[in-house]
Amino acid sequence: MRILILGAGVIGLASAYYLSQAGHEVTVADRHRDVANETSAGNGGQLSYTYVAPLAGPGVVSKLPRWLTQSDSPVRFRPQLSIEQWRWCFQFLSACTREQSELTIRKLLPLSFLSRTLLHELIAAEPSLKFDFIRSGKLVLHRDPSAMQSAIGLLEFQRSLGCDQQALSPDACVELEPTLADLRPYLAGAIHTASEDTADCQRFCKGLEALLRTRGVQFLMDTSIECLKSISNGRVEAWSNGAPLASDHVVVASGAAAAHLLRPVGIHVPVYPLKGYSLTFDLQPQTAAPRISITDFSRKVVYARLGMRLRVAGIADIDGYSLESDPARLAMLRAEAAAVYPDAVATCPSSDWIGLRPATPRGTPIVGPTHYRNLWLNVGHGALGFTLATGSAALLTQWFASSNGDELRSTFALSH
Ligand SMILES: Cc1cc2nc3c(=O)[nH]c(=O)nc-3n(C[C@H](O)[C@H](O)[C@H](O)COP(=O)(O)OP(=O)(O)OC[C@H]3O[C@@H](n4cnc5c(N)ncnc54)[C@H](O)[C@@H]3O)c2cc1C
Repeated sequence: MRILILGAGVIGLASAYYLSQAGHEVTVADRHRDVANETSAGNGGQLSYTYVAPLAGPGVVSKLPRWLTQSDSPVRFRPQLSIEQWRWCFQFLSACTREQSELTIRKLLPLSFLSRTLLHELIAAEPSLKFDFIRSGKLVLHRDPSAMQSAIGLLEFQRSLGCDQQALSPDACVELEPTLADLRPYLAGAIHTASEDTADCQRFCKGLEALLRTRGVQFLMDTSIECLKSISNGRVEAWSNGAPLASDHVVVASGAAAAHLLRPVGIHVPVYPLKGYSLTFDLQPQTAAPRISITDFSRKVVYARLGMRLRVAGIADIDGYSLESDPARLAMLRAEAAAVYPDAVATCPSSDWIGLRPATPRGTPIVGPTHYRNLWLNVGHGALGFTLATGSAALLTQWFASSNGDELRSTFALSH
């Protein structure tokens, strides 16, 4: 079958990989000249298979006043005259219960474990792919004792679902990652997950593009999709430059832009952008930087070592689609990084970046068919798109092989 994938981010490219492996004739279209030019470019670099708890958690309601009023809060809500934003926020707040959060974790873990297996297989099968991948393990640091207690509760719940994690004392944490020694007095403890990985998402995407081109996948770059149009027989066409693009099937993998692309054909996906920032420091050989990947839980900042670079990412602003940088938010991220890795921030050249997480209120992506016979979705991966890319792409590919979904596939289809 001729399959047109809209979006050359990590989700579109992973979809192209598995669909072409399955024997389909695949074309990838994107509005940019290069692949991975939007959210898949500068993300946190964590392959976070075990830490999939959604932002919509039971503690969120008590944090709302801070999110609404304090400019240095890691999550910030700026109300806008947008029904889309208010609807998303309402659905998000409705999901902030322990039951829903645990249900999301139960749904996501099988997909993230599948993604880990598939990514490891892909790395073994494609030795030409180089993307600073390391089996780094991850430490989630807690500064507040009560947050550490909640984290231990979550660890016990996740252990019952097959996760292998350990609670560490502050001393054990510094023993594992000595560059955290100066932070020791502020730590209440940490959760260690040895099976997490770290890698550069943009390099992964560029490597996949190179591989796919050699295998006959076509790339229509600098190609903006103007709209989807419903045609006869319950089908759609994707239009660019005033004409339809040839294909038998269309896969929407357009990240944060998905809701706007799909609405005119009557498909409403609850995908809304959560704006985040990252900083990348070019390390010198002597600069202190972590080997293990780190999440500073209360600050919602992640640190990942990508070869001789340190990626620092964080902030979630619920304030629309603009990619305009807010200097105060960037300064806040820089200050957080300076408090943990002062040498890197003071001495290493850095670049900054903004991206829009394509987030659903409950934190689960939407993968699978629509009510159109030839329109498919792979969208809404929020803060976990790199982590879930291979598994989601494989599920989508299975849908093409058989229209009867098994339990895992059905979990992520549009109606759920
Ligand atoms: C600060 C930050 C940190 C993050 N950290 C992590 C992390 O550590 N681990 C992790 O797993 N995930 C992380 N994420 C999330 C991850 O980056 C995203 O989930 C993932 O990149 C989404 O990929 P995507 O392919 O869906 O979207 P994108 O990468 O945005 O790709 C969508 C593509 O569609 C194209 N497109 C859209 N509309 C059109 C159109 N009309 N015509 C043509 N082309 C179009 C765009 O140009 C774009 O290239 C982070 C995100 C942010 C912002």
